[in-house]
Amino acid sequence: MIITKKKPNEEILESLSGAHTVFVAGCGSCALKCANSDEKSVALMKEFLEQNGKKVLQAFTVESACDMRLVKRDLLKNENFKNADAVLALSCGAGVQAIETVCAKEVIPALNSSYVGTTERIGVYKKFCSVCGSCVLALTGGICPKTRCAKGLVNGPCGGFVNGKCEIDADKDCAWVLIYEKLKKNGALDKFVNQYLKPA
Ligand code: SF4
Ligand code: SF4
Repeated sequence: MIITKKKPNEEILESLSGAHTVFVAGCGSCALKCANSDEKSVALMKEFLEQNGKKVLQAFTVESACDMRLVKRDLLKNENFKNADAVLALSCGAGVQAIETVCAKEVIPALNSSYVGTTERIGVYKKFCSVCGSCVLALTGGICPKTRCAKGLVNGPCGGFVNGKCEIDADKDCAWVLIYEKLKKNGALDKFVNQYLKPA
């Protein structure tokens, strides 16, 4: 899912400086799971905006803000949405742009989109994929060197690892050691030894 982080309140307020009335649009998917668009976050945002002179016409959560069909279904006939000077979207950038595409309104992001994350548990996400468009996982034991190697090496290792840890960040396992161990376990070390991947 898309991992998001809330923008500072001051930045949001600055972005909304031209708007008096605001429609707060939450996202019921990734942003909600990151606790950036849940009931409490939406209520806190509404309260903050009202304390700073904005009139919040409505706070409404779209099932998935990145789905233009759901945005159209849920928002376009909503009078509060139509009447608001601006929409504040508690969603990733894809959600902001889905809303912007289906209406002619000013849409302001309340969140920063960080990365595509793998969920370990709520609040703990792993960056395992950089959405490169050319997946090599079939050759690397299901472990992404483009994302998980600090140097993004597709023909690793670099030789700097110590006790299986990365020379750039000793708190992290060297991705290429993980790849080696995995391929060895699967009897597929020939892939490790013989393959050459063209650097992206
Ligand atoms: S190679 Fe890595 S970054 Fe590219 S699609 Fe596969 S997992 Fe994602
Ligand atoms: S030690 Fe391993 S993970 Fe770190 S940069 Fe070198 S190959 Fe990549």
